[in-house]
Amino acid sequence: MRLIGPNCLGIVNTAAHLNASFLPHHPVQGRVALMSQSGAIAAALLQRLDVSMFVSVGNKADVSSNDLLQCWEDDPHTDVIALYLESFGNPRKFVRIARRVGARKPVLLVKSGRGEAGGRAVRSHTAAAATPDVAVDALVRAAGVIRLDSVPELIDTARLLAFQPLPRGSRVAVVGNSGGPEAMAADACERRGLTVPELPSGLLHARAAAALGNPVDLTADATAAELGSAVRAVAAVPDVDAVLVVYTPPFGSGLEETRRAIAEAAKEAGKTVLACVVGHDGLIGGRVPSYAFPEQAVQALARAVRYAEWRRTPEPVAIPVPVDREAGRQVVAAALEAHPQGGWLSPEATARLLSCYGVTLTESAEACGPDEAARAAARVGFPVVLKAVGPVHKSDVGGVRLDLRTEDELRHAYHEMSERIGPAMTGAIVQPMLPAGVEMIVGGVNYPVFGPLVMAGMGGVTADLLADRAFRVPPVTDPAGMLDELRCAPLLHGYRGSPAVDVKSLEDQLIRIGRLLEDLPQVAELDLNPVIVTTGGATTVDARIRVAPAQAPPTALLRRLR
Ligand code: ADP
Ligand code: MG
Repeated sequence: MRLIGPNCLGIVNTAAHLNASFLPHHPVQGRVALMSQSGAIAAALLQRLDVSMFVSVGNKADVSSNDLLQCWEDDPHTDVIALYLESFGNPRKFVRIARRVGARKPVLLVKSGRGEAGGRAVRSHTAAAATPDVAVDALVRAAGVIRLDSVPELIDTARLLAFQPLPRGSRVAVVGNSGGPEAMAADACERRGLTVPELPSGLLHARAAAALGNPVDLTADATAAELGSAVRAVAAVPDVDAVLVVYTPPFGSGLEETRRAIAEAAKEAGKTVLACVVGHDGLIGGRVPSYAFPEQAVQALARAVRYAEWRRTPEPVAIPVPVDREAGRQVVAAALEAHPQGGWLSPEATARLLSCYGVTLTESAEACGPDEAARAAARVGFPVVLKAVGPVHKSDVGGVRLDLRTEDELRHAYHEMSERIGPAMTGAIVQPMLPAGVEMIVGGVNYPVFGPLVMAGMGGVTADLLADRAFRVPPVTDPAGMLDELRCAPLLHGYRGSPAVDVKSLEDQLIRIGRLLEDLPQVAELDLNPVIVTTGGATTVDARIRVAPAQAPPTALLRRLR
């Protein structure tokens, strides 16, 4: 016997005419299967969404979202799967299943507890473990899951995906009887990465006042028949992937006749057709989703376009990199043997671990005292950099001196530094001064529940301030795409007279850090900041790695809870 709940609202199967819930209203049959971890949210959703099945999972003692995904994968009455979640039982498994199911049916997700306050409400509500939101985002995104910020967005998107074919591309024609809302629609398209291409001239013959480029404004006088034939004409243009009809009632032939004309035209279009009937949410002719505001329609369309793109993209494969996993494991094991509770690795162990994974660290010579520093500098060659060992954030305490050109300068800097920092400074390292480049940060974490996550971002001392970052669940299969998500990406490709740097080397380092985090779950956090990228390569000048005893994988954790 399987158990649903406890602390739930029951189940509904409209195809089987089963309503075993205490919903306040009667659910209507539709193509969307809905799972909700909150009864209240489910009740609100079901008032506006027609469903094939509905399951209120409550505290998920037995049946989980993973079970339901698998059940709905083959359900002939379900075309779209919608989930409201407050916690993941086994996120890695969720991603595996969602990716497979998502290749056949769109999976929509609203996951609450994004911020601190939301997280608190969720924990006290269902005793869900806090799960960092970026990890959720990266995980579900890799699986093609359509993550939405709110329940209205979920409804809007589900209605489009349930009733219309997936858009083949991102080119939208806007057709309607009202210039203002049409202009808003076109603006919203551009904001969301959709294009509104110019339509071929001579396509439409309309009254003198109309604009026929795109948006097509047939003006308030346009009849239902005129609007219908305009929809047919623009849908036939090869450069158009979707048609958005914007109608403001009661002009032209009135609401009912126009709705009929839109439904008829959509039937023959063979492309995605959706409507904004200003002020009216609903479904036209059982086929065309209609939205009260243009931005709502465009947002739903943009989600569908992105999902369709994901479906067309072949599943990414890991890029192989040669690493010495066994040697890396030994470095971590030795550190944990010395400090079973974990902690920061020494500079020496850090360098060794990184070298096992082919991560390029600049030459670093440990030096205790000014004499040793002078000898180290002679070895690495002036100009050099002197850094304090001991403080975690060295710059903050005056623990980094750059571009020291002579032995005198170095000795002087050493004395000054040790005086200023005092006993917190346990030694120093001397590095060659690297030529200027683009300073990036490459980092990663291993979450006990979510597993590893890799980060790339703008680096240097302003890294936290600017917070320009991108995340991936390893293996990192698209390092170039990851870097291009950053606002600072133009700096890498050559910006205002500065040369394009060796981005390929940086990409290689990202893949390797992903591999390290995957192989070694005991690496709790890792920070290469900065990686200095020049035309000659990507070199890390500052690295920090914290190890911690690895925690039980989520499945074992769950079993213990049961
Ligand atoms: P921390 O992050 O602890 O303050 P870093 O070692 O990252 O110390 O040094 C701070 C800054 O100094 C870096 O962001 C970088 O701009 C510069 N820097 C550090 N080491 C070098 C080096 N070897 N060559 C050139 N610049 C360096
Ligand atoms: Mg640093």
